[in-house]
Amino acid sequence: MPQSSVDLGGRVALVTGGSRGIGRAIAEALADAGADVAVICHQRVERGEAVAEKIRAAGRRAIVVAADVSVRQSVLDMVDRVGRELGSPDILVNNAGIATVRELDDLDEAEFDRSINVNLKSAFLCTQAVLPAMRARGWGRIVNISSVAARTAGVVGVHYNAAKAGLEGLTRGYAARLASAGITVNAIAPGPIDTDMAEPLRHTETFKRIPVGRLGAPTEVAQAVLMVLANAFLTGQTIGVNGGVRLD
Ligand code: NDP
Repeated sequence: MPQSSVDLGGRVALVTGGSRGIGRAIAEALADAGADVAVICHQRVERGEAVAEKIRAAGRRAIVVAADVSVRQSVLDMVDRVGRELGSPDILVNNAGIATVRELDDLDEAEFDRSINVNLKSAFLCTQAVLPAMRARGWGRIVNISSVAARTAGVVGVHYNAAKAGLEGLTRGYAARLASAGITVNAIAPGPIDTDMAEPLRHTETFKRIPVGRLGAPTEVAQAVLMVLANAFLTGQTIGVNGGVRLD
């Protein structure tokens, strides 16, 4: 866990995709900084429980909620349960995502829609669901996990490029409209990070082109999230955590 000087004591954080990979590292880092955490998973509840157990053992409150963040009613039920059991989220991390590799000629409409719904619409649904309580409180932090693929071709496909570029547009749009309400909205754009998602890509040429010469660690993305949360003057930005991968 990255050591943090950020004090999130008394805050409630909701981390989508908190059961594995980058989301797990973020959930643990937020708890380490003092927050109570709702660990959201899709299907792997046991993985979520392992994260929550670790957080509880460190003295914070944690719950696991299984939800499909691309479905409005599922998101509303999730936020309602988090509100009842932990309190309304002060911090939302829209991290859940999918990266199904498709070449141009293999990409069909169903996969395109799935990518947009899980990677982009989910952030809209979750943000809309937590906003009323953040506005009433006059404080909120929203962090969207984008990708270098928002601004490069990447290796996943155009469906993923489009979803992540859209997520950065959503970030700037919300940031501009919520700044006066005490709510910051930023994006973190990781390069290749050592998680399950990166597994199919591990043996491709991509990794040889990372200037630092290795995959990133999930904790390195979590460090950037903590930095963003600590700064009330930082909003509407996308922070790259990419080992020097060029954005052209
Ligand atoms: P993983 O595949 O390791 O984990 C994905 C997480 O998202 C899991 O917790 C999964 O839940 C959850 N999830 C997937 N679909 C849904 C859904 N419909 N509803 C709710 N939760 C869902 O991914 P990473 O940790 O690697 O990636 C996290 C984020 O970082 C993603 O947005 C990804 O696009 C982005 N990213 C990752 C990079 C990488 O190299 N790893 C690089 C750049 C960006 P469950 O465990 O239940 O399946």
